Amino acid sequence: MKLVGLTGGIASGKTTVAKMFQRLGAAIVDADVLSREVVEPGQAAWQDIVTIFGREVLQANQTLDRQKLRTIIFNNPNARKQLETIIHPRVRSLAEQRIREHREAGYAVVIYVVPLLFEGNLQEGLRPVILVACDIKFQRQRLEQRDHLDGAAAQKHIDAQMSLEEKRRLADYVIENNAGLEELEEQVRQVYAKIQAT
Ligand code: ATP
Repeated sequence: MKLVGLTGGIASGKTTVAKMFQRLGAAIVDADVLSREVVEPGQAAWQDIVTIFGREVLQANQTLDRQKLRTIIFNNPNARKQLETIIHPRVRSLAEQRIREHREAGYAVVIYVVPLLFEGNLQEGLRPVILVACDIKFQRQRLEQRDHLDGAAAQKHIDAQMSLEEKRRLADYVIENNAGLEELEEQVRQVYAKIQAT
């Protein structure tokens, strides 16, 4: 079984690309999805977060108020570090479990989608790594539309991440997402064929 990393900037098209790989037969493990799973009410990470940040980060139904947490950590590196220390090891072990299950189910390719793959320096354990690259103007546009942000807020999210140039240098395959979904799908097919052939 091949374990492949997939990354890209915020709203660059990672989920869209991952679904295309899934349709071609790959199994997908998405770190973002897992990071929501490990903080469901009653889970160990949820308990740790309530202990450290207080019940004011909970909504009435006991789930985390993600917007509130995002605001807390956006301007507070210490709080961000604390939150990461709670969540990351649990995401990692759940990811390992899911990858093992896909291996046992007989998948030839498992794609692990990690938004901050290069920022977390995970590339050596996840070769090859596929980067979904997207012009900043499209990225900003998609982010504004999907998350209802204004231009300045969208730009702030983009600026908080590693530059695209640096990510390009670190990636093994780059999928350009600046056009329509058909062009995107064609690139996904080509990369999938290369991965299967190596
Ligand atoms: P995040 O970083 O927030 O997890 P992401 O990188 O997974 O985002 P997607 O959710 O796949 O990005 O894409 C962001 C938005 O842009 C979505 O609404 C998606 O449908 C749209 N989108 C992505 N690629 C294209 C494309 N080539 N054409 C049209 N819309 C697209």
